[in-house]
Amino acid sequence: MQRRHLVNFLRKKIFYLILLYLFTYVNASAVEFNGKFIQGHFILGKTKAGDQVFIDKKKIKVSKNGYFAFGIDRDRKYDLVIYIKNSNSNKKIIRKIIKRKYNIQRIDGLEEKKVTPPEEVYERIKNENKLIAEAREINSDLNFFKNKFILPLENAIITGVYGSQRILNGKPRWPHYGIDFAGDLGTPIKAMADGVVTLAENDLYFTGATLIFDHGHGISTLYMHMDELFVEKGDIVKQGDIIGTVGSSGRSTGPHLDVRLNWFGTRLDPATVLNIK
Ligand SMILES: [Zn+2]
Repeated sequence: MQRRHLVNFLRKKIFYLILLYLFTYVNASAVEFNGKFIQGHFILGKTKAGDQVFIDKKKIKVSKNGYFAFGIDRDRKYDLVIYIKNSNSNKKIIRKIIKRKYNIQRIDGLEEKKVTPPEEVYERIKNENKLIAEAREINSDLNFFKNKFILPLENAIITGVYGSQRILNGKPRWPHYGIDFAGDLGTPIKAMADGVVTLAENDLYFTGATLIFDHGHGISTLYMHMDELFVEKGDIVKQGDIIGTVGSSGRSTGPHLDVRLNWFGTRLDPATVLNIK
């Protein structure tokens, strides 16, 4: 009699242990991150439908299927804190950020007017920066960001990388947040991902003919220094569609394409979605 009780007791105990293990396991594997916690990287997340996600205490959009996206600033040094919340749990995830080394180039003895834009264009630059910032702040429900991106040019040769910085006459300039591709004037440019055009301007001071696309949840891409634009604000574009041609408009030293990736105001490395090193 005693023995049978003991066997039953153990059976129950093992059963509950298995249940507990399964529950813990399922819970722990509920969140996935596709991307690396490295400066400048884009990260695609997937959690259970209905979960709430907070990055650095800021609530971000989660799609109906549980997808979310965010990115890591070029110079971020401190840990990233993520909360995944639902009605019965509040999970805290802390991730260390891996630092990168950027290429810093010093050039001295330059003519001052080549280094600083003339005063009469300050107002124009301010207004144009505002337009760009507004396009970046769009927080739509689109979820095109979860699909793979493609290169914007055939035979793309990279001539400039993310994060590099020039120090001209001792003054550190704005870091280069894009990827430059070599390209002849008039070369067709493909949309890297499905998206909605949120800015199409022919003549911005720095970036010339410029396009911005919204891919959802604050993820946007920019194409700069273009020659012709084939799309307008509000257009819905499919990946691979020809959106314009390579040019040298704005402050550019020759025909090339500069593309950028943002998570709201945070500038990310387009290489992290284009799978290039
Ligand atoms: Zn560039």
